[in-house]
Amino acid sequence: MSGFTVAIVGRPNVGKSTLFNRLLEQRKAIVDDVSGVTRDRQYGIADWNGKSFNVIDTGGFVPRSEEIFEREIRKQVQTAMEESNLLLFICDVATGITDLDQEMAHVLRRSSKPVYLVINKVDNSNRMLEATEFYSLGFDKVFFISSMSGSGTGELLDEVAAIIPEDEQALPGDDEVPKFAIIGQPNVGKSSLLNALIGAERNIVSDIPGTTRDTIHTHYKLFQKEFILIDTAGIRRKAKVHEDLEFYSVIRAIKAMDEADVCLLLLDATQGITGQDLNIFSMAGRKGKGLVVLVNKWDLIDDKGTNTARDYEKELRSRLAPFSNVPIIFTSVTEKQRIFRAIEEGLRVYENRKRRIATSKLNEVMLKAIEAFHPPVVRGIAIKIKYVTQLPTHTPAFAFFCNLPDDVKQPYKNYLENKLRENFDFEGVPVRLFFRKK
Ligand code: GDP
Ligand code: GDP
Repeated sequence: MSGFTVAIVGRPNVGKSTLFNRLLEQRKAIVDDVSGVTRDRQYGIADWNGKSFNVIDTGGFVPRSEEIFEREIRKQVQTAMEESNLLLFICDVATGITDLDQEMAHVLRRSSKPVYLVINKVDNSNRMLEATEFYSLGFDKVFFISSMSGSGTGELLDEVAAIIPEDEQALPGDDEVPKFAIIGQPNVGKSSLLNALIGAERNIVSDIPGTTRDTIHTHYKLFQKEFILIDTAGIRRKAKVHEDLEFYSVIRAIKAMDEADVCLLLLDATQGITGQDLNIFSMAGRKGKGLVVLVNKWDLIDDKGTNTARDYEKELRSRLAPFSNVPIIFTSVTEKQRIFRAIEEGLRVYENRKRRIATSKLNEVMLKAIEAFHPPVVRGIAIKIKYVTQLPTHTPAFAFFCNLPDDVKQPYKNYLENKLRENFDFEGVPVRLFFRKK
């Protein structure tokens, strides 16, 4: 995964979230004309022509009220220009060019990042004619689309995918130092954790700038363990201008995630897990990152009985499902409880993510499991899985060779994944299963 980020900008109601959903091919977000409607997803991962990239709907971060909007949108566009690799500037053919479009175009024309002007709601040929007025905004790349029907979005995606660099697929060598990212909502204790670790030992080797100027990699040698913590400028010293911008913290978290091997996701024990946390969690999973969940501020939970942690953990795991095979640790950063344990778990997950299973062992175990419980028969034909092998990828992936690869259904895939996890330690690691024609 390249870590390439595309930001969708534009004034309200031009169709940003409709386009966002189309790019992600999912309809979860609420699209609505009512102002002030909060949408449940503002960022995600899109795949096109073999390239994966982050997509951010900046509109999802702005309250849809006209007064605060103008000020917010200026900040939002500014941040999007700084933080993303490509901007999609959406305009609406139905309204024509508005003052706000002009104003945004003025800012965006000076962007050092590429900007594609996307004219939306071009639902028919009449609108196509009207849309030509947008050339006057002065952008080189102009696209005419209908997010509603999807027309034109394929061409747009082709152009987006074309400028994304190829993923580097080199496998990490054994001498690589594990990279951790601390992620989580504001105020869960990320910077406190970082400071506690910095304070824990003077033996910090160095601060190395990350691959983007926004991240800092700090090399630690704590109690004979070596690791690199990736933190973002936002964690270390809260950048004043952007403090109030949720969008900013999300985009930074995604960047840190892209550079990490394992993400330490912090939750506030008193708040429980939020929808935003689950988004970040599943995004990390889709990016193939290792995960450890830290339930922080555990000291604030009163009257802890013998079962408190166990019950809390059970409930949390059910929310994390289907990827619930992750370490969950109850920490208190302020009381220095289990902080080092968290790092140890991170290192363990890092090792799990590198785990390679010998083909002979894999087949011995998995063919037995398949023998014990066969895939259901389809159209009167038995599905026969003959052979399993682990693929040479960053994150564990397995290919199952069989006669009818397209007919293996999700429940059976879950069964196979569970069997893999029962027999080999992949805790905290997303595991991918592929089915191929024998
Ligand atoms: P946002 O505020 O920019 O995120 O805009 P939304 O995605 O919420 O869309 C605003 C309105 O425009 C909604 O009623 C959408 O259904 C509508 N809309 C979005 N795309 C299209 C399109 O391609 N054609 C038409 N006719 N309507 C669209
Ligand atoms: P960040 O925004 O995620 O970086 O969160 P901070 O590290 O700035 O912490 C937010 C607040 O929570 C601060 O007042 C911390 O002192 C407090 N805090 C952090 N960790 C703990 C903890 O384990 N227990 C308690 N009681 N407070 C904590």
